[in-house]
Amino acid sequence: MGLAQVFDNLELMGGALDGQHAASIGSSSVPAASAKRLGQAEELAATLQTMLRTPLTQPVHRTVWTLLDKVLNKALDYDARILHPESFSTLAERLDHAVLATSCGVTRTASFTAQQVGCLRLSARRGGCDLTSARTKGLFVHLAAASQYLPAVAQKLAALGYEQSCVEGAIDLAGVDHCLSALERHSVHVRHDGGIVTGAPPSSRLAPSALLWGQARKIHSPLLDALESFSEQALRDSFSGSKRDLARLWSCSGPVSSRWLTEFPASWWPAVLDDKFTMALKFRLGLPVYPAGLQCAHAQSKDPFAVCGKALDISGDHAVCCNVGPYTSIRHSALNGILAQAGRDAGHAVLLEQVVPELGFKKSRRGGTEVWVEAV
Ligand SMILES: [Zn+2]
Repeated sequence: MGLAQVFDNLELMGGALDGQHAASIGSSSVPAASAKRLGQAEELAATLQTMLRTPLTQPVHRTVWTLLDKVLNKALDYDARILHPESFSTLAERLDHAVLATSCGVTRTASFTAQQVGCLRLSARRGGCDLTSARTKGLFVHLAAASQYLPAVAQKLAALGYEQSCVEGAIDLAGVDHCLSALERHSVHVRHDGGIVTGAPPSSRLAPSALLWGQARKIHSPLLDALESFSEQALRDSFSGSKRDLARLWSCSGPVSSRWLTEFPASWWPAVLDDKFTMALKFRLGLPVYPAGLQCAHAQSKDPFAVCGKALDISGDHAVCCNVGPYTSIRHSALNGILAQAGRDAGHAVLLEQVVPELGFKKSRRGGTEVWVEAV
């Protein structure tokens, strides 16, 4: 069809129609460009897994995770938008397999249970690891892209002189209908105005043909949110009331508790050793952190022979709660040091551990006696 990709939002259609694949949107075939992107993604996954198996002098696990999260798991996002969801499902299955295999490598785990996969795929703010599966994207991404861009595409085609019936005949909405039906099987419904309803179907369901001549609707985020809500609830139900697993999910959720996992590492960030990164990831996924039968080796800072000696549970709970030794204040002190240095670099005079009388007093305990000290 040869539409130039110079008009805003025509990229969606232009990309889909690029080359000889004019029929790809509505057919079950996979365009060569999409197959090539999948091949490149699988090659990247193989390279990352080789890196993880190769002894290297520099830590690589965090780097591998960043590539896994930001590149590999998003390798087919464009294809999810332009392909019919049925065509995309084959690609999605293979990409999901590559992502899981690489995740196993980062955590040094042979395979994951269904619960661990659920946690891996759940969004970070809900306590998961943010690797939304391509199969989940296949449920709604094509619909979300069509809702956002097709109205403008249709209007621009009309402005170019095409009749309304011609435009309606040229744009295949079968993929949109497929998404709507797939979402309805998950009890997620899209109203005619773009609102997302869960549970019982609304009286006015979105009609695919209405997309062309109405307003653009941004429905990607609310749809993903609705699907994630079901995934989170399913994961919680699978814990069967296990207080530890439920508490773990709560403590891993929130806007900042996953920044170490989901942000691009900055060059000035301290290096994270591979063992520590893997251990933190295992703790988040509910994987065993230690072999059974070990004892805590934390020692008093003033007496290295006075070790804690308590049994180390395989979940790692004792290790993060143990109060023996200097480890409880190491991160606090390290953060203080980084902030102080940043202040000095900015040209300020910085003093640590200073008494600030204006902050008032607080209760403290010294040698078994409760005392009031000035806040610092
Ligand atoms: Zn201990």
